[in-house]
Amino acid sequence: MTDTPLIAGIELGGTKCVAILARGPDAIEDRIELPTTRPEETLAALERAIDGWRGFAALGIASFGPVSIDRGSGEYGSITSTPKPGWAHTDVARRLGNRYRVPTGFHTDVVGAALGEARWGAAAGLADLAYVTVGTGIGVGLVAGGRAVDGLTHSELGHVRPPRLPDDDWIGGCPFHGACCEGLASGPAIAARTGVKGQDLPADDPAWDGVVHAIAHLLYTLVLTGVPRRIVMGGGVMVGNQFLFPRVRAQMKALLAGYVPLAEIEQADSYVVPAALGANAGPLGAIVLGINALNETSFTAA
Ligand code: ZN
Repeated sequence: MTDTPLIAGIELGGTKCVAILARGPDAIEDRIELPTTRPEETLAALERAIDGWRGFAALGIASFGPVSIDRGSGEYGSITSTPKPGWAHTDVARRLGNRYRVPTGFHTDVVGAALGEARWGAAAGLADLAYVTVGTGIGVGLVAGGRAVDGLTHSELGHVRPPRLPDDDWIGGCPFHGACCEGLASGPAIAARTGVKGQDLPADDPAWDGVVHAIAHLLYTLVLTGVPRRIVMGGGVMVGNQFLFPRVRAQMKALLAGYVPLAEIEQADSYVVPAALGANAGPLGAIVLGINALNETSFTAA
């Protein structure tokens, strides 16, 4: 891996930030972790740590969202409409890019994780995949032809609204949409509904039925729209409750009802799979964003 340049990668998460100086998963030269507090305090602490790093060729930032990825916009590189206190309209990528003067890639944490899993993890070698996180929120990073599926902005599939289970009229936990997928199946939604954190809720608790139903609808929608070749799943709710995997696979197949008659879907054990990069998935995704920014710059220069 010595031919891969040294890259600085930052995962800016809702509760913590992880930054690594690395060439890839087997060549991590430094790693720092700090809590996400107020924007100025958090970004200044990151800068103090990264200021000591030398020789990195590019910087990648994978951030919680929503973020502005429109390079023509004055808000490019910022977190936009987050309900997280103090963080709405916070510039991240322009600030850090100007400070370190290297090609800088910026995208959502889920797109970063998708690119990382496609390069080194559970979807290695695939150019079309989705990464789905079910944790503090629900997010989808969709990659087609090796690139993030971006348009007007990045996709927000975690907020699609599944039909409700009969007799379920809970209002849901999303401040924007109530009972969207994130509002029904994220960690905070499970806790708000049951009074028990997801990791402590027994596998036979009936509350899981609604969670599985919402996640399976998301996967069903993904198969029909983004047509990923594999769906990689991470996030605290999935990682902490492995029994969810067979349940969401089975319900996804039931919802598709044989309409996509491909072996990949029928053999769902290898189609909907756990993420492989573990605790470094976020920052390694940021490393790929940095590598891509470097390659785009070289291409433009040539
Ligand atoms: Zn929502």
